[in-house]
Formats: sequence, structure tokens, C-alpha cells
Amino acid sequence: MEQQIPYKIYLDETELPKAWYNMRADMSQKPAPLLNPGTHQPLTAQELDGIFCEELVKQELNETDAWIPIPAGIRDFYKMYRPSPLVRAYCLEQQLETPAKIYYKFEGNNTSGSHKLNSAIAQAYYAKKQGLKGVTTETGAGQWGTALSMACSYFGLDCKVYMVKVSYEQKPFRREVMRVYGASVVPSPSDTTEVGRKILAEHPGTGGSLGCAISEAVEVAVKNPGYRYVLGSVLNQVLLHQSVIGLETKAALDKYGVKPDMIIGCAGGGSNLGGLIAPFMGEKLRGEADYQIIAVEPASCPSFTRGKFAYDFCDTGMICPLAKMYTLGSGFIPSPNYAGGLRFHGMSSTLSQLYHDGYMTAVSVEQTKVFEAAEQFARVEGILPAPESSHAIRVAIDEALKCKETGEAKTIVFGLTGTGYFDMVAYEKFHDGQMTDYIPTDEDLQAGFDNLPKMD
Ligand SMILES: *Cc1c(COP(=O)(O)O)cnc(C)c1O
Repeated sequence: MEQQIPYKIYLDETELPKAWYNMRADMSQKPAPLLNPGTHQPLTAQELDGIFCEELVKQELNETDAWIPIPAGIRDFYKMYRPSPLVRAYCLEQQLETPAKIYYKFEGNNTSGSHKLNSAIAQAYYAKKQGLKGVTTETGAGQWGTALSMACSYFGLDCKVYMVKVSYEQKPFRREVMRVYGASVVPSPSDTTEVGRKILAEHPGTGGSLGCAISEAVEVAVKNPGYRYVLGSVLNQVLLHQSVIGLETKAALDKYGVKPDMIIGCAGGGSNLGGLIAPFMGEKLRGEADYQIIAVEPASCPSFTRGKFAYDFCDTGMICPLAKMYTLGSGFIPSPNYAGGLRFHGMSSTLSQLYHDGYMTAVSVEQTKVFEAAEQFARVEGILPAPESSHAIRVAIDEALKCKETGEAKTIVFGLTGTGYFDMVAYEKFHDGQMTDYIPTDEDLQAGFDNLPKMD
């Protein structure tokens, strides 16, 4: 049996999932609703329609349908780069001398270099279907902006990207890829929006944050007719689209009768993790099977492990809906020398609820340890991993080493969300010994918690 498992398990085109899986349908404790920031009342579809595309609002609010068909127009695009391979990490296992069996689902096989294209193409499709002119968004490290630019150019939509200023400066090539696909890219905070001007006045010289960029992108979408705002993570709809990752993973494992013990994913806003675990969590929620599910986050932006489970703004400008989630406070900006991505202050409300209810665990890791794991992986498995993905690699290696001590042959699956070709400045810092592990103090975090909105 064991020998029959190939290095790469490919599914063919006909095995591409025909529907996304919506975990919320199987959750007895549903994630808390998004609230209007002014009235603190649950947002209605009508209110959300002003910001997001109509069909995406329906998906955002849908807590009852477990399966949502993937339109043919989206499946056709998926077919260009999916199903993605599930790789058995034989070389890594050998190097670690572990009895553990390690698999990773590789999402870096497309030009944008990450899983984000899975949701970008869905969101662009629905925007086009609604007859919109274009969409606005924010991007941090640049993967989401790149993915969205590709999706928009495919459907002939205009794409305006607000890119966190430090990334804009550190990743000029990322920016150029977006421009290849016709997007306009503005460093955030900028003076092109009211909220950007306000943030610049309060924090002159700031390198920006995802929260700032979100505020700017939302403002532009709301003020320009024919435009809507789209978001690459955190939201329920994004986790829904990303379920394609987990569905393929499960189908590939099922082919060989493999049942994982442990599923590991990095967590920024939670979309790849939510997608990877979706069908497994579904079984867990329905009481059909059990899996150990681990979210991995940076020690410098530890929303699950040190955050508060509370209603908070998704953006720094405090104009976005309130979401109940594990959060460090919308004013939290990770230390500037932190280079590993996953910088968002909050976390998907679906994953937050699942974590709160004990369906999954979380660990935080320091960035130098993450880059050590990245390099170890690159040298044996051949793929240059994104720093974000390398958080999951770190914990997969640590778990495999524990198995070496106990002699347990656990089956570990982790999400390899993308490639690191645009992260060479971070790798350079690591090589030159300039990378430090700044971990926020309790006082640093308290400042963020003090600014949580007061709920009554
Ligand atoms: C954006 C990104 C992540 C983190 O985002 P999630 O929404 O938490 O999945 C992880 N890996 C890569 C390569 C990314 O681009």
C-alpha cells in the first residue's frame, strides 16, 4: 500500500470539485454576524450590497447551504491551473528520519504564486456578472493584488489596488506583475482618499498596514459608481471559495485510502486554512471523523494565541463592518522588521468560532525559525516556499520530529500556499543575520485591546 503512493498525486480535470463546501452549514454554533459599525445591528444584505457584489453578499450570509455550485465560468478558469498537486514529502521525511508521513498541498503553481487566485477568479466572475466596471482592493505582500489583477484582466474588469506602502517599496516586481495585468497600484496610506490623508496626518511616515489599505479601498469603491470592494481573506465567502483546496486534498487522499491525523496551515486572515480544512472539519462537526487541526501564526502578530475574541473593525480607518473574531485590535501594526507576511490584526470569524469552540488549536512561531524551516524544505523538496507558507512547514517539521521521538507514524498534511520568488528581500535579511524576532509585549498588545470598540 505504502509504496504505491506517488510523489505527486494529481487529480484529473473531471475530478475538479463541482461545488464549494460551506462549513457554516454544519456548525451548530454559527459565527457571529457582521455588524453595522454605526448602529451595532447585524448588517442586512441591502447594506452590504453597497460595498460588495450581490452574489458574494448572498454567499457571505449563507449559513444553510452546505454545497454551493461552482459556476462553469469559474471552473473553466480553475482548469488552467487546477487541480493542484498533493505531494508526498518523501525527501523531507527521509532527511528528518521520521516515521511520520508528510503530505503538502501545493498552491503555488500559477503566475500569482499562491492560493489567492481561487477566490480572486470567483469574485471577479460575480462582479462581471453583475455588470460592474471594476473592483478595488488592498494588498499586503502583494499576492492578493496579483491574483485579483489576473482575474480582472481575464474578465475585462478595471482593478484598483491599494498596496501597503512598505511592501510597495520592498516588492517592486510584485507591483510590476500587477501592472502587466492592467491593474493600477497605489501605495497606502495615500493622499488619494480622505481616510488615507487622515492616517498620514496622524502617523506621518508610516509604512502602512493592511487595515489602512482596506479603509482606502472601501472608500474608493463606495464613492465610485460601478465599483465594488473585494477582499482576499477573512470573509466567509473567501473561505468558501478556498474550500476547493481541501476538497481536492481529501479526494486525492481518499484515492489511496489515506486518513490524515493532523492538518496544519498558516493563518493570516484564515482563508487557506479554512479552505484546506473545510471537508475535514465538516466530518468533525458532523461527528464522522476526528482530526487534529493546527493554525500557525507569527509570534509577532499572534491573533489566535494572544488576541481577544471580540467584535472589532476589519480596518484601521474604522469604516468597515464589525466582525467578531480573535483580534489584536484594528490599530495593531506589526513591527516593521517583521517580513514573514500574515500581518492582519484579526482572523476569519468562522475560524475564530471554531477555535473558540475547541475544534482546532493554534501555535505561534518566530520568524527566524520559520525561515530556517523554509530553507530546509527548499533544499530537499525543491520548492522555494513563501514565508507565509513556511509557518506551516515549521510546525509540520516540528510535529514530524516529535514522531521521531515517540515512534508514532502520524500522517501529517500541510498547506504549501505559495512560492517565495518575490520575498527575496526577506530571505536576504535572514541570510545576512539581520532578521530579528520581535515579539510584542503584553503592554504593546494592551494598547490594541484598549481601542476595541465598546459594545453594549
Ligand atoms: C495571503 C497568503 C497567506 C495568508 O492568507 P490566508 O487568508 O490566511 O490564507 C498565506 N500564504 C500565502 C502564500 C499567501 O499569499
